[in-house]
Amino acid sequence: MDGVATSATLALLELIHRRRSEGRTVLDLGLGEPVFPAPPAGARAAIESVRSGDLRYGPVAGAPALRECIAEEARRLSPRDGDLRAANVVVSNGSKQALFNACFVLFGEGDEVLIPTPGWTSYYSIVRLARARPVAVLGDPASSFKVDADRLRAASTPNTRGVILNSPCNPTGAVYSPSELADIVRLADERGWWIISDEIYRELAYDETAVSLLSVSPEFDRLVVTNGMSKAYAMPGWRVGWSIAPAPVTSLIVTLQSQATAGVGNAAQAAALAILSDVEGAAAFVSSIRSAFRARRDCATEALSGVEGLDLVAPRGAFYSFFRPPHVDTAEHFTRRLLEACDVAVIPGDAFGVPLWVRASYSGDLDSVREGFGRLAQFLLAS
Ligand code: PLP
Repeated sequence: MDGVATSATLALLELIHRRRSEGRTVLDLGLGEPVFPAPPAGARAAIESVRSGDLRYGPVAGAPALRECIAEEARRLSPRDGDLRAANVVVSNGSKQALFNACFVLFGEGDEVLIPTPGWTSYYSIVRLARARPVAVLGDPASSFKVDADRLRAASTPNTRGVILNSPCNPTGAVYSPSELADIVRLADERGWWIISDEIYRELAYDETAVSLLSVSPEFDRLVVTNGMSKAYAMPGWRVGWSIAPAPVTSLIVTLQSQATAGVGNAAQAAALAILSDVEGAAAFVSSIRSAFRARRDCATEALSGVEGLDLVAPRGAFYSFFRPPHVDTAEHFTRRLLEACDVAVIPGDAFGVPLWVRASYSGDLDSVREGFGRLAQFLLAS
């Protein structure tokens, strides 16, 4: 376990609990979790699944109907119509397990994996747990910290085996354009790298469409796409995610998952199937959730726009504002002072590989977002 970080936010959580136990109202802009009710068809199907006595072990790779439904969506995204089948899909306990599976199957000792940085904190730990070496590739701050093919090429060595992409990005909210992605795919193709594309926020882009890697370069096949129900369907606690990968990789993932957790709970899969198989209903739900997040994004951005000298990445997707407070010594310090002075919790950028930056989430209800970002902006103005 050496080198695998425990959550950078644990100390902060303790402080939050202490202040709450003193009767204070702490506004938590740390968590990245939608607070909307999930589509009701999901809960109905889950209850029905339990009532019908569907309580036995299910297939490790997931319920065949759900795998087929996910493959169907993949076919809609990918111009290579007809190529992707249920045999390419594994349903996992959240997309986190799907990422974990992919890294364990593809990478190992001596391998290097490029991670555009800032990046989601778990990528670095998952790659380390797979005994490979995560290589943080710092993005260009002038371009929302996005990493282009040149930066990836410069960071690569003969040991590089893959890259993990995430658009829209947690924590920056940056969205990669199809041509930026195509350049990266071209490089990966040239070098024989794998691409893991974490598309958990793909439906949550507010100014443009965030494209799937499945639709960018159909001929590129060293690709694993991960996604799930947690964000766009507001179902983080149901733990349903999946990977879409070439069939040989998928069967290795199934072997790995069979020795780890086996299949996802039947009721949770029934919920996901009921929601996703109603293609129009699912699209309408996602569209409503996107509008709701766009309103929160606008509210958060407006509050921060009044702070002069604040470096703020233009938030175009996911549900985070990523900024560098002026005159900050460490983000950890800033976070602690903010919590003590204003009862607002945010996450120091250290967790994402950039120590002087801070992430504030606008995934909560609109009133808390308004109040939380308002207090944050006041604190920034006064400091
Ligand atoms: N990927 C990113 C970038 C995330 O931010 C998260 C959760 O916060 C996940 C993956 C994991 O989501 P889940 O395991 O709930 O599907």
